Amino acid sequence: MEKNTHLGFKRELPDNNLRVSEQMYRRIFEDSMDGMFLWNNQYQIVNINFAAEQMLGLSKERIIGRSLFEIYPEDKKQEIREHFERVYQYGENSSSIVFDIRGDKQRHFDYSTKREIVEGLNVTVFKDITEKVEIEQQLRKSETLNVIGELAAGIAHEIRNPMTALKGFIQLLESSIKKEHTMYYQVITSELERIDSIINEFLLLAKPKEIRFQEKDIQQIMKETIDLLNAQALLHNVQFITAYDEPLPLIFCEPNQLKKVFVNLIKNAIEVMPNGGAITVTISKEENHQIHISIKDEGFGISKEKINKLGEPFFTTKERGTGLGLMVSYRIIEEHKGVISAESEEGKGTVFHIFLPVNHMNYS
Ligand code: ADP
Ligand code: MG
Repeated sequence: MEKNTHLGFKRELPDNNLRVSEQMYRRIFEDSMDGMFLWNNQYQIVNINFAAEQMLGLSKERIIGRSLFEIYPEDKKQEIREHFERVYQYGENSSSIVFDIRGDKQRHFDYSTKREIVEGLNVTVFKDITEKVEIEQQLRKSETLNVIGELAAGIAHEIRNPMTALKGFIQLLESSIKKEHTMYYQVITSELERIDSIINEFLLLAKPKEIRFQEKDIQQIMKETIDLLNAQALLHNVQFITAYDEPLPLIFCEPNQLKKVFVNLIKNAIEVMPNGGAITVTISKEENHQIHISIKDEGFGISKEKINKLGEPFFTTKERGTGLGLMVSYRIIEEHKGVISAESEEGKGTVFHIFLPVNHMNYS
């Protein structure tokens, strides 16, 4: 009687079984959700599976026979080389890497390599973890926001009281200041104003004492905001183009807070167009009881590396920036159970998208 191994295979596989077994492994390779490369000891790619083709946007025909190092962008080669050096040293290694795939947004991958899974053949397995990384970033961001929000109220009030005294006394001194010292006086007042504006932004972080959510016309809020900023826009040669869906449902919101968000985004848009341009504002009704607001500028845009930093406290690229405007805005949108994101092309401009639920009480 033939003995079975513990896997249930007969010890001596007849041809037919061998084929079945080979087919099985081929299917596992092809249908795996993780991307896989098989390569030989000359770093030549022997096979890649379907998931790998999809994730990297490569085709099997074009890739088989090429060197592993050829398919990576120049600036990643060193990183990849180090990974393979460790593989040769220890037999296996795991790393992660960030790629631009076809000019798309950056994607994050975890990958591991094992040597000699069969003689002369090595395998690299990788997984697209972009979504996971993004969720983690979001979580970290909103955690930081919460902590800062709590700190903000306390500290800002503490600073505000001595500030009021300082401002008062400085004003008293104005008339008695010698002419040659007026420069100092100007610097002191302008710096005090700056501290004041930072504190005000900080205070906004703390939950307003009286949150009054009410049903409001979002279009009206936007119109008031644009009226408010029109003079500043004209001064910088910036025009507004607006397109609002009609009719729009009323939305349950804290109107002053939303206005603050729009002011922040539009101010930023004006500031990135030193030579003028257009700001396009749209408001439209989406499915699932959502309102979509977009604010688009024609400014210099923001790089892929920096776009994830938007909304982080104190992230600023401006000499006199505070890096608080977007943080406050992100927080307010979060409190409305909405979502805010930015899309940007360097040299062309940036669009901020806000999605707000019409009645967020139903969602919380
Ligand atoms: P601040 O305006 O004080 O710098 P914000 O929080 O408003 O602070 O913005 C943070 C940073 O985000 C800016 O310094 C800028 O680098 C970037 N940013 C914001 N809006 C835009 C935009 N429309 N286009 C390009 N970069 C932007
Ligand atoms: Mg700003």
